[in-house]
Amino acid sequence: MKRAIFFFPAFFFLVLSFSAQAAEGDWNLLSEGEKELLSGVLQKWEIWVPARQKDGTAPLMTYEELYQGLNEDEVRFLDRVRAIDPRKSFDFQGEYLGAPEPGIPFVKIEGQTMQKNGETVILDPQYLTADVYEAYLRMNEAMRKDLGVGLLIESGYRSHAYQLYTFLFYTPKHGYALAETGQWVAIPGYSEHGAPRRQALDFINEKGINGEDRVEDFEELPEYAWLVKNAARFGFELSYPRSQKGITFEPWHWRYNPSSETVQKAA
Ligand SMILES: [Zn+2]
Repeated sequence: MKRAIFFFPAFFFLVLSFSAQAAEGDWNLLSEGEKELLSGVLQKWEIWVPARQKDGTAPLMTYEELYQGLNEDEVRFLDRVRAIDPRKSFDFQGEYLGAPEPGIPFVKIEGQTMQKNGETVILDPQYLTADVYEAYLRMNEAMRKDLGVGLLIESGYRSHAYQLYTFLFYTPKHGYALAETGQWVAIPGYSEHGAPRRQALDFINEKGINGEDRVEDFEELPEYAWLVKNAARFGFELSYPRSQKGITFEPWHWRYNPSSETVQKAA
């Protein structure tokens, strides 16, 4: 009797998961034709994207720029990837944040330096809207007053086009599986880095610690403990806290959400 009770739900579960997999099959793994299309696209991008990364303007890339020189099939393929809804396609817990309005002015942040393993490293230029940048500066000044150190911005605004480029650049490295790639790189429209109204900042400390090798490396920093205690006063909140179901803990990723009542007014 007991055996029968256990057997039935297990069978039922298998059927469910099998049908879910079949429904996702069309978008998850790229077909051979699509793999070829993607290789062609990546080759075309390799001609000019690295130069934009080098001069620091890649995060502001537009779709017009990204689509230049692509043929009809390649454009259709890119549009297909852009249309993926990760909330339906995999266990993505975030929301669709929309496309930023065109023409938003960004402040270019240049010359951030850190001392990594005894060497001076200059970070790539980053972009934020003026209100977010000023809130960051106020917060960083307060942190420096308390701790004697501050945090640098390793990643600020990233345009949707640059997000799509990044997603497809990493797709071959994840076995051409879009769902797996999507666990590491967001589909355009679902990243807080591409949403100026809810702008995310990835922090790195002045010694180059960003939690990339080990999440705890960042979590154990006094700078992180300071943020947990004080960031809300400046309008920043942790986007992906520890032990939140379905979300990877990212102690370095903070978003600007000044609706909080505790925000300190600008002096
Ligand atoms: Zn981030």
